[in-house]
Amino acid sequence: MQRRTFLRHAGAFAAMPLVMPSLSDAWSAAAAAPLRVNGARLNEWLTKFDSIGRTPTGINRVAYSEADLAGRAFTLQLLRDAGLTPRIDTAGNIYARLDGTDRTLAPILIGSHIDSVTDGGNFDGPVGSFGAIEVARTLREQAVRLRHPLDVVIWQNEEGGTTGSKIAVGEITDAELAKVARSGITIRDGIGRIGGDVSRLGEAVKKKGDIACYIELHIEQGGLLEKAGKQIGVVQGIVGLRWFEVTITGFANHAGATPMDQRQDAMLAAAKFTVAVNDAVRAEPGRQVATVGRMVVSPNTTNVIPGQVVLTVDLRDLDQAKIEHFTEIFERLAREIGTATTTTFAFKRLTDSRPAISDPRVMQWVESSATALGLSSQRMPSGAGHDAQEIAHIAPMAMIFIPSVGGISHSPKEFSRAADITNGADVLLNAVIAADARVPDGPS
Ligand SMILES: [Zn+2]
Repeated sequence: MQRRTFLRHAGAFAAMPLVMPSLSDAWSAAAAAPLRVNGARLNEWLTKFDSIGRTPTGINRVAYSEADLAGRAFTLQLLRDAGLTPRIDTAGNIYARLDGTDRTLAPILIGSHIDSVTDGGNFDGPVGSFGAIEVARTLREQAVRLRHPLDVVIWQNEEGGTTGSKIAVGEITDAELAKVARSGITIRDGIGRIGGDVSRLGEAVKKKGDIACYIELHIEQGGLLEKAGKQIGVVQGIVGLRWFEVTITGFANHAGATPMDQRQDAMLAAAKFTVAVNDAVRAEPGRQVATVGRMVVSPNTTNVIPGQVVLTVDLRDLDQAKIEHFTEIFERLAREIGTATTTTFAFKRLTDSRPAISDPRVMQWVESSATALGLSSQRMPSGAGHDAQEIAHIAPMAMIFIPSVGGISHSPKEFSRAADITNGADVLLNAVIAADARVPDGPS
């Protein structure tokens, strides 16, 4: 953006009335006729952003890369053009505040991320980040003063393990900071590169009560909304995930000389187990999913009965009790198949992340905003991870999903329609206004 553009907007702000409408005016006005963002402007930002990190194989704006730095510079300018003063915290997250009328209240937080995966698309992250900036800018332009401060946040390195939001809730480990990011440098060095200070990470940590609520707009990254013909997804939470590594031990023996009834075939046991896991998960109602995704067979030779298989199971659901329930079922199936095939199964947990449940009130504000805007909506879980799952540790949160064409994401083919993006930002705007009117004062 040119300096001239900024000055023009600054002039427009200076011409705003000195007496701002009060909170109740804003809320009742929104209830009567919902406010709307400038969707054309928002989509124009996204179009411009598409050139940053664009390569022949997709968007490559991986955290701490040159393209990520360029994307952050672009975003900082958008915030300044919106009349805000961005700052970078010690974790490297970008924050910008729109003041409220009551300085004693904790801020409402909105935002997302702008980094991408390798060979990704332009919508995963930027839609929610720029949508949040557009919401703040619209509130300024329409001279709507909230009671709460409104903070826009751009979390750093979401795709490399929700790094910025994890630091913000005090959940980062030294091992994670030492990991080499996709850009080839450690996360620790990356934080320095984007303007953070790894020696003072504690200053970036927020605790319960510091955030009134968090609302994140994001593309769905799946095909449920498109299939159902709905415009808005009201996210009930981010599913919990459990990864097992299962080692099946049999006995490697001659494929020609060993009779069929005297074998301890680990591969046969693995095959039966894979089918059994799938059958078990499908046999019960619900949205639980489980996947046997990796198998290492040894000795992996044509004329030897496999003596050992190491496989992985990925199990996800919004309900922790269901994760426990299917864990028990998988262990029972393993015992039965082990007995039937004369093999043994050993389970090891690789990863365990608990579901992050959306706050029912915040979900309600998202839902009623969609209804007031005349948009169809449905409640749904998020199968993918998001920064919102970290913030859920310390603040009531909810997410707004908009359709992904073809259900495709983390791909150069990732696409969301301009009208859907505008709808999502409109819902975010009105959900913020609803939250401002209804979030109880002070820490909950
Ligand atoms: Zn994302």
